[in-house]
Amino acid sequence: MPTMLKKKPAPKAAAKSAAPAGKKIKRVYFFGAAKAEGNADMKDLLGGKGANLADMTLAGLPVPPGFTITTESCGEYNKANQKMPAGLMDEVRLNVTKVEKATGKKFGDAKNPLLVAARSGAKMSMPGMMDTVLNIGLNDTVVDGLARLSGNERFAYDSYRRLINMFGDTVKGIDHEHFEHELSAVKSEAGVKLDTDLNTQQLKEVVRRYKEVYKKHLGEDFPQDPFVQLAAAIEAVFQSWMGDRAIRYREINEIRGLPGTAVNVQSMVFGNMGDDSATGVAFTRDPATGNNEFYGEFLVNAQGEDVVAGIRTPLECKTEMGKWSQKSWKELLNVKKLLEQRYKDVQDFEFTIEKGKLYMLQTRNGKRTAAAAVKIAVDMAKERLIDEKTAVLRVEPASLDQLLHPMFDPKAKKDVIAKGLPASPGAATGKLAFTAQEAEERVANGEKVLLVRRETEPADIGGMHVAEGILTSTGGMTSHAAVVARGMGTPCVAGAGALNIDVKNRKLTVNGKSYGPNDFLSLDGSTGEIYDGKVPTVKAEMSGPFGVIMKMADKYRTLKIRTNADTPEDAQTARNFGAEGIGLTRTEHMFFDPERIHHMREMILASDVEARKAALKKLLPYQKSDFVGIFKAMNGLPVTIRLLDPPLHEFLPHNEKDQEELGRSLGMSLEQVKNRVSQLHESNPMLGHRGDRLAITYPEILEMQVRAILEAAVEVKKAGIKVAPEIMIPLAGTKAELDYLKKVTVDTADAVFKEAKTKVPYMYGTMIEVPRAAVTADELAETAEFFSFGTNDLTQMTFGYSRDDAGVFLPEYIKKEILERDPFQSLDVGGVGKLVDMAVKLGKQTRPEIKLGICGEHGGDPRSVEFCHKVGLNYVSCSPFRVPIARLAAAQAAIKSEASSGKSKKK
Ligand code: PEP
Ligand code: MG
Repeated sequence: MPTMLKKKPAPKAAAKSAAPAGKKIKRVYFFGAAKAEGNADMKDLLGGKGANLADMTLAGLPVPPGFTITTESCGEYNKANQKMPAGLMDEVRLNVTKVEKATGKKFGDAKNPLLVAARSGAKMSMPGMMDTVLNIGLNDTVVDGLARLSGNERFAYDSYRRLINMFGDTVKGIDHEHFEHELSAVKSEAGVKLDTDLNTQQLKEVVRRYKEVYKKHLGEDFPQDPFVQLAAAIEAVFQSWMGDRAIRYREINEIRGLPGTAVNVQSMVFGNMGDDSATGVAFTRDPATGNNEFYGEFLVNAQGEDVVAGIRTPLECKTEMGKWSQKSWKELLNVKKLLEQRYKDVQDFEFTIEKGKLYMLQTRNGKRTAAAAVKIAVDMAKERLIDEKTAVLRVEPASLDQLLHPMFDPKAKKDVIAKGLPASPGAATGKLAFTAQEAEERVANGEKVLLVRRETEPADIGGMHVAEGILTSTGGMTSHAAVVARGMGTPCVAGAGALNIDVKNRKLTVNGKSYGPNDFLSLDGSTGEIYDGKVPTVKAEMSGPFGVIMKMADKYRTLKIRTNADTPEDAQTARNFGAEGIGLTRTEHMFFDPERIHHMREMILASDVEARKAALKKLLPYQKSDFVGIFKAMNGLPVTIRLLDPPLHEFLPHNEKDQEELGRSLGMSLEQVKNRVSQLHESNPMLGHRGDRLAITYPEILEMQVRAILEAAVEVKKAGIKVAPEIMIPLAGTKAELDYLKKVTVDTADAVFKEAKTKVPYMYGTMIEVPRAAVTADELAETAEFFSFGTNDLTQMTFGYSRDDAGVFLPEYIKKEILERDPFQSLDVGGVGKLVDMAVKLGKQTRPEIKLGICGEHGGDPRSVEFCHKVGLNYVSCSPFRVPIARLAAAQAAIKSEASSGKSKKK
């Protein structure tokens, strides 16, 4: 992996250290020769890679011996302003001796040299975000020892020049370009194109020049003492934890509260020792589709970073490895089996074959697409590798989003301009952005872009995050672009070799056709195809393994899942996704249709009750027909309809031309319209004349809406369809408001039923959106038969943050860790959650059978769903596309809380 860190990063806000004062701390854990001081459960302390290296060693897998320096040591280092913890290097020396014993080699010994690698490895994998230094231990004399030992002088000098480059660049901050410049010069003098074409003498010349570059920039010689090299490499890895791109990666992936990265110092094995050596990366199953087949790539005579960096195009193990070495291929298939049996999950592992002998360099749970995650969970449950509950817990609920969104219409006409590797599935269309920075800027300006690169690198992370899709012209299925895109769930086509990307002139050329920054392309990450222009999309379907995992989830969840839907179409979409009712119909959205808004405005501008009633009468049939549609779509499932909520001025025109037109159609002067608009102007409309305050002042609005709801219910009932309306009052803060409005509701209902000569059961309830409602919920429950927590407003009013304007400062709050996450997206359990919990308890105190739900945005946020399960709500309600996410999150919440309470719910 190429490093982008050019300078020693300045010490930023220091990480927390968990090291207790005054106690001898063990900072280094050895692994080798089938023994290990660590184990698989020590990811906090040893990082994911360190814990698994220990575990693989214990499992008898061929792991080169080494040791892991703890994550807490990194925390100590950064906390102490980048000072090595006292005694750390003594422990390191002691462990180097152990590695020497296990390998039979000696660090710094020219006759039989031990070389080591220093690699980062935090608890959570952060691919390519931190530093690695290979070949530590080489110097002017050891290099000759290595040449003798390997019988390959060229290899020895190639390794040495790589060390000087990597050490100079990663550890000492010398720009990689200076080394690259010398390499190019030697190549051109030698008349060769590729690094691999350089002979031993020419590589010796590269080493000589690299040492000169080193000395020129640092004023000192390249260190010959292997321990000086090792100590500096360890420090560099520690520092890279606080490097900009690592910090940004943690921000994007919400990785918080970790002390630092571990450092894994491990004896080197070489995939570049000749044509009987190779290096590769593999997954035990296909991470894009989830198919149960070995999925990996390898390069003969190469070092690990050559594969990941996409410098050479690797070979597919499945088709090519057997041709190269049957023995190695069989060993790898065996490793696949062993790893899955041990870790009970898909593993993503790195291996090296040195002179025909296989070594395992790392294993971790493989990142996968949502489609693969679902298939793998379902398959592994079928194979009885895991149980059903584990399968349900295996899929990240939010990732289902990837499966719910549109795919390219199979019937659409598509002009395929090139094909690459199907690196991360999904359909994406956008204009072309040629650098990550350009992508970030253009997306901030509202554009949709595809990030088009020869190959991405860790510094591109920001641009990759915002792009609709990613397209590269080099690199394989495990290249940086492919791995990161899959992790993000962003569609990606990698290694489309036919593309010629000219960053300087912002131009992509393919088969004689050119595309610039304002041209659209479409890419399909499931097939690898790239299309000219925009391609239309179609809706996704919930079939196959997706349907199976949803059924499994439904077995375990206790929360019901409803949807927020304002139209029969949305209601139907949500039902198709498994919604069990509507938790919120926002009636105001029904008034914005051009035909209706006119009557709405007429109602608002009416000078007296009679005129208002006359206008409302015109609106009634529209509302009624909407409700009929929704009731029919929901076919007897409960439907909560909220009465008018927004401030009235939102419905009025604000420019003079529209105001004039409105006045003309209503027989009013422009002046009169303007007066009314300015009368309705409020300084704080969200705290103003809205919600049930409108119905208190204009009960005739409520009358019309209740009549529309119940007339629709009667009509649907008469058509033989069951109907269960729930009338919901917004924004109430006192029992008295609910009492006053209940009377109007009941009177209206009685009148409707009398006229229809039939009755429909309905419920009367309220939203809990203002803190006063939450703290007096016992009183409100005397009148309300149900509560629905409107946590959008409840968050707004609890924090006092305007939900429309908080975007200005909230990102800063999150960056500075004042808030852990945006409380409008994920429920603030400590504050808003306390109010919810209190209201639940108070409500049940008065009315034990009270129905409790949530209809704020949080109803579709997995973390918040878990909270709703814990406090004992009956249902969560969310937008139609989040229904499957909520179903899965609710099941996970139930399984987790069952596990933590130790109770087993009989199924
Ligand atoms: C809420 O406040 O949480 C809610 C659902 O209502 P709205 O978003 O329409 O204000
Ligand atoms: Mg609200």
